[in-house]
Amino acid sequence: MRDALAKSTNKEFSARPREFESMTTTHEYDVVVVGAGTSGCYAAATIASEGLDVVIVERKTAEEAGHIACGDALKGANAFPDAIPKEQIEPAFTNTDVDHGRFEIPQEDSVLEIPVPGELAVIDRWEYGRLLIEGAEQRGVEFHYDTVVQDVTQDASGRVTGVRGKKKGEVVQYEADVTIDGAGALSLLQDKADLSDATFDTNVSYSQFCSAYREIVEVDEPVEWSDALVFKPAEVAAGYIWYFPRTETTINAGLGFQMTEQPMKLVEDLKQDLRARPEFENATVTDKLGAALPTRRPYDSAVAPGFMAVGDAAGHVNPTTGGGIAGAAYAGKYAGEQAVRAIEQGDVSESALWHYNERVMDHFGARYASLDVYNILSTAIDVDGLTGLLARVPGEKFAEALYSGTTSFGPRLIAQTAKESYGFWREIYQFYETKNAADDVMRHYERYPRRPSAMEGWQKERDRLMETVYDVTGAEPKY
Ligand SMILES: Cc1cc2nc3c(=O)[nH]c(=O)nc-3n(C[C@H](O)[C@H](O)[C@H](O)COP(=O)(O)OP(=O)(O)OC[C@H]3O[C@@H](n4cnc5c(N)ncnc54)[C@H](O)[C@@H]3O)c2cc1C
Repeated sequence: MRDALAKSTNKEFSARPREFESMTTTHEYDVVVVGAGTSGCYAAATIASEGLDVVIVERKTAEEAGHIACGDALKGANAFPDAIPKEQIEPAFTNTDVDHGRFEIPQEDSVLEIPVPGELAVIDRWEYGRLLIEGAEQRGVEFHYDTVVQDVTQDASGRVTGVRGKKKGEVVQYEADVTIDGAGALSLLQDKADLSDATFDTNVSYSQFCSAYREIVEVDEPVEWSDALVFKPAEVAAGYIWYFPRTETTINAGLGFQMTEQPMKLVEDLKQDLRARPEFENATVTDKLGAALPTRRPYDSAVAPGFMAVGDAAGHVNPTTGGGIAGAAYAGKYAGEQAVRAIEQGDVSESALWHYNERVMDHFGARYASLDVYNILSTAIDVDGLTGLLARVPGEKFAEALYSGTTSFGPRLIAQTAKESYGFWREIYQFYETKNAADDVMRHYERYPRRPSAMEGWQKERDRLMETVYDVTGAEPKY
């Protein structure tokens, strides 16, 4: 490994490109981050704040960067890591009045109003993206736009040494002590790198993702539900339509489905639902975007020698709501802090980066792994069963399960709701058994290993718990 500390104190030298006869431009940094999204910006801003040289390589243009497909609902809006503080991104919070979810269940002719715990804002996502980039720049992060990363470089021992890509037809090479993958869902970097000797989670497949599409819709009259996130089950059980009010007259309308299901005609299905709602008469669509997002448990390990993955690239998304902004911000912070520590100690091995995994699991990873169990249930239950269940289990119990990963739903409550829930006892009992299995999974993640060598035994026990999950839900194995 190069003398990282000496290099990091010599910015003039480290950030200067080297031109080669082969027309490859080589850049040297302490850390190269791929992706100017939430996770990449927070990782890089954290690293730059400690005085290290860091670049973000982004495929989009400077104008387009930060324009990302999203429902615009920001849960946990009260607390953001210090590297880019809340005050800096707050101007993009366009609606802070939302305090509940409104679940429309046409099959049951009912509407459930369920409180959303904690602070929530609906945001102007592109403006938020720009403010993030501005915040990272102010901390000293360099941005290289129009640069598509196409490969990962590794030395003979397998340590990741940087990335290679193209900028306007020219080959560009980045050499760094640590490479951070913030390239989002289904990141290309993980296809290119050989991480088979590391603990890094490579058990990733399409069925663990959701495909989603959204439009920004302007209406003439204020909508009645501007204080609510509106959800509605789609035609397939593991899919839903959403209407999130950026303002009273600007609505983020979208839908998503689990990739285990028959593909939905996203654009057409959304159009159909919009047409059927009187509040969208004469509406105009001002923006359209779609993308994949992970709806899975977080990666068992998101580190390999010289390499870390953050945000969507490591499955740091609430798998029941699809909310990934807060997880991406904190994963960025934790990865950034660990990268700095490792570089300062001259050791970027898997063990040296490991503590990043522990902090993710401690903060939200255990919760998301347990929420994944409910996501697995939703893929196994048909749409009538799901909507029937939704309409009959008390709303606050769903809210608990949706956000905290556990709920106090137990036998006494089942008995109390027995009369109203006639016809759905099987689903309700299944929900109860699923809750018990999810609680066991959460407890196991709370004992996440302290070192890479303990990983195998921990995974074995987790996989045993997942067998119970598949048994009680009747779902196909997801991993
Ligand atoms: C339709 C939809 C709706 C969503 N709704 C919500 C919501 O309401 N609330 C919420 O909290 N979350 C939501 N999410 C999830 C949320 O958007 C993500 O979890 C979050 O953006 C993850 O941030 P990230 O930085 O990890 O990745 P991203 O924001 O995806 O950023 C990745 C960046 O990497 C760049 N990149 C990718 N590949 C390369 C490459 N090869 N070379 C160079 N650059 C590259 C991309 O251009 C992009 O800028 C939604 C996602 C989708 C798709």
